[in-house]
Amino acid sequence: MVISLKTISIYVHIPFCRKKCNYCSFYSLPDCDDGIKQQYTDALIRQIKAFETDSSIKSIYFGGGTPPVLGVKRLLAIFEEIKSSFSLAEDCEITLEVNPRSVTLDELIMLREAGFNRISMGMQSADDNELAVLGRTYTNAQYEYAMRSVSAAGFVNISTDIIFALPEQTKEGLVKTLITAINMNIPHISVYSLSIEGGTPFYYKRDSLCLPDEDTEDEMYYLLCDIMQKHGYMHYEISSFSREGYESRHNLHYWDCGEYIGFGAAAHSFYNGKRFSNIADVGTYIALADECFYSPTDFNTQPVLSDIEKAGERIMLGLRTSKGIKTDDELIRRSEKFINNGYAVIRDGILSLTDKGYRISNSIIAELLV
Ligand code: SF4
Repeated sequence: MVISLKTISIYVHIPFCRKKCNYCSFYSLPDCDDGIKQQYTDALIRQIKAFETDSSIKSIYFGGGTPPVLGVKRLLAIFEEIKSSFSLAEDCEITLEVNPRSVTLDELIMLREAGFNRISMGMQSADDNELAVLGRTYTNAQYEYAMRSVSAAGFVNISTDIIFALPEQTKEGLVKTLITAINMNIPHISVYSLSIEGGTPFYYKRDSLCLPDEDTEDEMYYLLCDIMQKHGYMHYEISSFSREGYESRHNLHYWDCGEYIGFGAAAHSFYNGKRFSNIADVGTYIALADECFYSPTDFNTQPVLSDIEKAGERIMLGLRTSKGIKTDDELIRRSEKFINNGYAVIRDGILSLTDKGYRISNSIIAELLV
């Protein structure tokens, strides 16, 4: 018997939400009827069944959207298909994204018993006014209640997301949010700055949003890095902080240029050296699901990455994390000015960015790639 040493990850995209948040540009549909959700589930299961690999699966991530909006029974049916179609590593990390009020304690217990072992629950803010501005549909008290249910169901590996630089947000408001999450003992916290994306409700009223200026946003970022690190969280990626042993294995796999397969509308894949994506339209995805990854819209049309492209990706993705990238003479020469100005460091032959460097990572990476 040939044993494959290759490990890949799986991403499953569930593009349904109760309602669109004011800042959201992800592909997700609010208010879909049950018939579409069932057809989508059937299409996902067909696509999973049709895909063959002898790689072992190191992590699975159900993201969205808000996956429980599909219905927990349907999520479990998809997960069962993954378990019977693929060989899961013994320590496979299996994450489900949820929102407060999207799952009950009983459903969380069912998910834990089925094998999900990590929950990522959106928090965004501990301030009810900020939540309302963002268009979130819960209060902080409901968030805290939901987080207690997640723990009561037996989940230990838990992550939450926070957004900062919100309209009219003060530094005190940000500190209150961070301390609320820290006091709940959440071992993994991601903190993103608000980005105003085209096509969102925030975009259309961007001129009337009272957003912090760039200097204030920088100060907020340094403040949050400081608070997280003082409370024992490692800053292991631009936006991610974790207690030791709770880094997201799934995301680390992406940043290590590991291969993964995306199932579902708008899901991206990196497989056999090719990057490709499924169509971002639920109706077309349902119609095309029998064609698996070999439809003219995706896998077949994409070239295998060249060595130069792969090297560029290693720099781009590697510098997102504290693991950094291996240096050579040319990279040392190019990074000298960033090191001299406190944006980057080299330790034991590894180049990585500092907190200050993470703030301008795009321009540093662009210069290193020239
Ligand atoms: S819940 Fe998440 S995916 Fe859905 S609209 Fe809000 S931000 Fe977007």
